[in-house]
Amino acid sequence: MSDCIFCKIANGEIPTNKVYEDDTVIAFHDMDPQAPTHILVIPKAHIASASEINASNSAVVAHIFEVLAKIAKENGFENDFRVVNNCGARAGQTVHHLHFHLMSGREFTWPAG
Ligand code: 5GP
Ligand code: ZN
Repeated sequence: MSDCIFCKIANGEIPTNKVYEDDTVIAFHDMDPQAPTHILVIPKAHIASASEINASNSAVVAHIFEVLAKIAKENGFENDFRVVNNCGARAGQTVHHLHFHLMSGREFTWPAG
Protein backbone atom coordinates (compact mmCIF):
# COMPACT_ATOMS: atom_id res chain seq x y z
CA MET A 1 0.00 0.00 0.00
CA SER A 2 1.96 3.01 -1.28
CA ASP A 3 0.01 5.61 0.72
CA CYS A 4 0.04 3.73 4.03
CA ILE A 5 2.11 5.40 6.74
CA PHE A 6 2.81 2.14 8.61
CA CYS A 7 3.93 0.43 5.37
CA LYS A 8 6.36 3.33 4.98
CA ILE A 9 7.62 2.84 8.54
CA ALA A 10 7.89 -0.93 7.92
CA ASN A 11 10.01 -0.48 4.78
CA GLY A 12 12.20 2.24 6.29
CA GLU A 13 10.87 5.06 4.11
CA ILE A 14 9.83 6.97 7.25
CA PRO A 15 12.33 6.81 10.13
CA THR A 16 10.97 5.86 13.53
CA ASN A 17 12.03 5.17 17.09
CA LYS A 18 12.38 1.40 16.70
CA VAL A 19 12.10 -1.02 19.64
CA TYR A 20 12.26 -4.35 17.78
CA GLU A 21 12.43 -5.62 14.22
CA ASP A 22 12.62 -8.96 12.45
CA ASP A 23 11.62 -10.28 9.02
CA THR A 24 7.86 -10.02 9.57
CA VAL A 25 7.17 -7.45 12.30
CA ILE A 26 8.39 -4.11 13.58
CA ALA A 27 7.78 -2.36 16.91
CA PHE A 28 8.24 1.36 17.52
CA HIS A 29 7.26 4.05 19.97
CA ASP A 30 3.90 5.75 19.35
CA MET A 31 4.42 9.41 18.36
CA ASP A 32 1.57 10.49 20.66
CA PRO A 33 2.01 8.28 23.74
CA GLN A 34 -1.04 7.65 25.92
CA ALA A 35 1.00 6.00 28.69
CA PRO A 36 4.62 6.28 29.93
CA THR A 37 5.39 3.29 27.67
CA HIS A 38 3.35 3.19 24.46
CA ILE A 39 4.72 0.95 21.71
CA LEU A 40 3.05 -0.13 18.46
CA VAL A 41 3.70 -3.61 17.08
CA ILE A 42 2.76 -4.13 13.43
CA PRO A 43 3.15 -6.76 10.72
CA LYS A 44 5.41 -5.57 7.91
CA ALA A 45 2.87 -6.88 5.41
CA HIS A 46 -0.17 -4.64 4.96
CA ILE A 47 -3.28 -5.96 6.73
CA ALA A 48 -5.93 -3.24 6.96
CA SER A 49 -7.46 -4.19 10.31
CA ALA A 50 -8.21 -7.06 12.68
CA SER A 51 -11.25 -7.95 10.60
CA GLU A 52 -8.87 -8.90 7.75
CA ILE A 53 -7.13 -11.60 9.80
CA ASN A 54 -7.71 -15.04 8.31
CA ALA A 55 -6.12 -18.48 8.02
CA SER A 56 -3.61 -17.27 5.45
CA ASN A 57 -2.17 -14.37 7.50
CA SER A 58 -2.86 -15.20 11.16
CA ALA A 59 0.62 -16.64 11.82
CA VAL A 60 2.02 -13.11 11.97
CA VAL A 61 -0.56 -12.22 14.62
CA ALA A 62 0.63 -15.11 16.80
CA HIS A 63 4.16 -13.89 16.25
CA ILE A 64 3.17 -10.35 17.23
CA PHE A 65 1.92 -11.68 20.58
CA GLU A 66 5.28 -13.42 21.14
CA VAL A 67 6.99 -10.12 20.39
CA LEU A 68 4.66 -8.23 22.76
CA ALA A 69 5.60 -10.63 25.57
CA LYS A 70 9.30 -10.39 24.73
CA ILE A 71 9.27 -6.57 24.76
CA ALA A 72 7.34 -6.55 28.05
CA LYS A 73 9.84 -8.96 29.68
CA GLU A 74 12.88 -7.13 28.37
CA ASN A 75 11.54 -3.88 29.78
CA GLY A 76 10.47 -5.33 33.13
CA PHE A 77 6.72 -4.85 32.81
CA GLU A 78 5.70 -8.42 31.93
CA ASN A 79 2.96 -8.42 34.58
CA ASP A 80 1.78 -4.88 34.03
CA PHE A 81 0.64 -3.97 30.56
CA ARG A 82 -2.35 -3.49 28.31
CA VAL A 83 -2.62 -4.57 24.65
CA VAL A 84 -5.16 -2.70 22.52
CA ASN A 85 -6.39 -3.11 18.97
CA ASN A 86 -8.88 -0.64 17.53
CA CYS A 87 -10.82 -2.01 14.57
CA GLY A 88 -12.83 0.49 12.56
CA ALA A 89 -13.32 4.23 12.93
CA ARG A 90 -16.00 3.95 15.62
CA ALA A 91 -13.60 1.90 17.76
CA GLY A 92 -10.91 4.53 17.32
CA GLN A 93 -8.84 3.12 14.44
CA THR A 94 -7.08 5.99 12.65
CA VAL A 95 -4.31 4.12 10.81
CA HIS A 96 -5.62 1.40 8.54
CA HIS A 97 -2.70 -0.99 8.88
CA LEU A 98 -3.08 -3.61 11.63
CA HIS A 99 -1.32 -2.60 14.84
CA PHE A 100 -1.36 -3.53 18.49
CA HIS A 101 -0.79 -0.89 21.14
CA LEU A 102 1.44 -2.11 23.99
CA MET A 103 1.00 0.24 26.93
CA SER A 104 2.42 0.27 30.44
CA GLY A 105 3.51 2.55 33.26
CA ARG A 106 0.18 3.77 34.55
CA GLU A 107 -3.15 2.47 35.82
CA PHE A 108 -5.79 1.72 33.21
CA THR A 109 -9.52 1.89 33.73
CA TRP A 110 -12.04 -0.63 32.46
CA PRO A 111 -14.02 -0.47 30.25
CA ALA A 112 -11.95 1.69 27.89
CA GLY A 113 -9.73 4.52 29.07
P1 5GP B 1 -5.20 3.84 16.13
O1 5GP B 1 -5.89 5.11 16.52
O2 5GP B 1 -5.33 3.57 14.64
O3 5GP B 1 -5.55 2.65 16.97
O4 5GP B 1 -3.66 4.07 16.43
C1 5GP B 1 -2.79 4.73 15.58
C2 5GP B 1 -1.63 5.18 16.41
O5 5GP B 1 -0.56 5.47 15.55
C3 5GP B 1 -1.91 6.46 17.22
O6 5GP B 1 -1.69 6.18 18.60
C4 5GP B 1 -0.93 7.46 16.66
O7 5GP B 1 -0.39 8.30 17.66
C5 5GP B 1 0.14 6.59 16.03
N1 5GP B 1 0.79 7.15 14.86
C6 5GP B 1 0.19 7.65 13.73
N2 5GP B 1 1.10 8.04 12.83
C7 5GP B 1 2.31 7.74 13.37
C8 5GP B 1 3.66 7.93 12.91
O8 5GP B 1 3.92 8.42 11.81
N3 5GP B 1 4.66 7.52 13.75
C9 5GP B 1 4.41 6.98 14.98
N4 5GP B 1 5.47 6.60 15.71
N5 5GP B 1 3.15 6.79 15.44
C10 5GP B 1 2.12 7.18 14.65
ZN1 ZN C 1 0.17 -0.57 5.38
